[in-house]
Amino acid sequence: MTLVTRSAVVEKSGLLRPYSSSRPISVRELELIGPFKNEVLVRVEAAGLCHSDLAVIEGVRRPPLPIVLGHECAGMVVEVGEGVASPKKGDKVVLSFAQSCGECLYCLSGRPTLCDAGRAANNEGRLVTGGTRFRLEGREIHHHLGVSAFSEYIVVPSSSAIPVSPDLPIERLALFGCAIPTAFGAVMNAARVRLGSTVAIFGCGGLGLNLVQAARIAGASQIIAVDIREDKLRRAEKLGATDAVDASRCDPVAEVRRLTGGRGADYCFEATGNTRVMLQAFLATKKGGTTIILGVTSPEDKVELPSWMIMGEERCIIGSYMGSIVPRRDIPLLLNLYSQGKIRLDEVLTGEIKLEELNEGLDRLADGIAVRQIVRMR
Ligand SMILES: [Zn+2]
Ligand SMILES: [Zn+2]
Repeated sequence: MTLVTRSAVVEKSGLLRPYSSSRPISVRELELIGPFKNEVLVRVEAAGLCHSDLAVIEGVRRPPLPIVLGHECAGMVVEVGEGVASPKKGDKVVLSFAQSCGECLYCLSGRPTLCDAGRAANNEGRLVTGGTRFRLEGREIHHHLGVSAFSEYIVVPSSSAIPVSPDLPIERLALFGCAIPTAFGAVMNAARVRLGSTVAIFGCGGLGLNLVQAARIAGASQIIAVDIREDKLRRAEKLGATDAVDASRCDPVAEVRRLTGGRGADYCFEATGNTRVMLQAFLATKKGGTTIILGVTSPEDKVELPSWMIMGEERCIIGSYMGSIVPRRDIPLLLNLYSQGKIRLDEVLTGEIKLEELNEGLDRLADGIAVRQIVRMR
């Protein structure tokens, strides 16, 4: 089956700002083929604009171009390919951007976000089921992280489409494709934050604000939000931060240490993608504590750490990709918390835009004015 879809295509990265003038994203009518074996066709209802999308525009992340951007969305299954048991036609689904094969060592040991075949497919801008499905005048257009959320219709591996309860408001579900699982998974699967512990969160964007509420739900006794923007710190306080540190006005390491009785926090989460902030998060962690690195950097970036402190102070540094989740286990679990009112989205959402307004949306994200903008396809 072939249909025509309006999709946000990026041909070139590294264009100058403002993006409202250089327009790195153009909305094109593409041909979409499939779904083939083990794939589903999804009508996208809502997608979130995330820093990882901006990182492609900036050239920090370098998937093959041209590409249909976006990786965080929810929609409705309109067709299923051969051999697909789940999801079914008509199901509401949240998309997972960590493609997985279900058969490799990582998939079999409960770590599908590290799947070998999924990583290879994401790096090559294709589906883990093989090849690409978007065409523009006969040219192949790549998939972004196996999702390509900024598109009216997408073809994805059935393993990436997680069926969810039909009662949930679909326009709010997009965030369960990246921001929510990345943050909550980092707290519950990677760091395993303990009841009563102290937590500092460096960076209060879409990821950091959700880390704040995840730490609150996990029972942290102190949650210190660090950012250089006042408005983001206020949002963090509404979501449960007990202290706010404006890093534009003070040394955030000294301030986190002061607020934790001179010791530093049990867990310091870095959610900026800035290597200088990664060092700050490490230095603000207490002896025997854990630093969790979540920000997206380019492959060439390096962090220099005082090595004595790692051994001599028994510190742990961990990374987490998409919250180290098992999508079919953890996304429904997180949606339950949302249904119970424990996960809040209002403080994280900052407006809706159309596909044609993505370039302006990128400017707002890069300027730090927006947290999560939701793209509505129709
Ligand atoms: Zn994302
Ligand atoms: Zn695998």
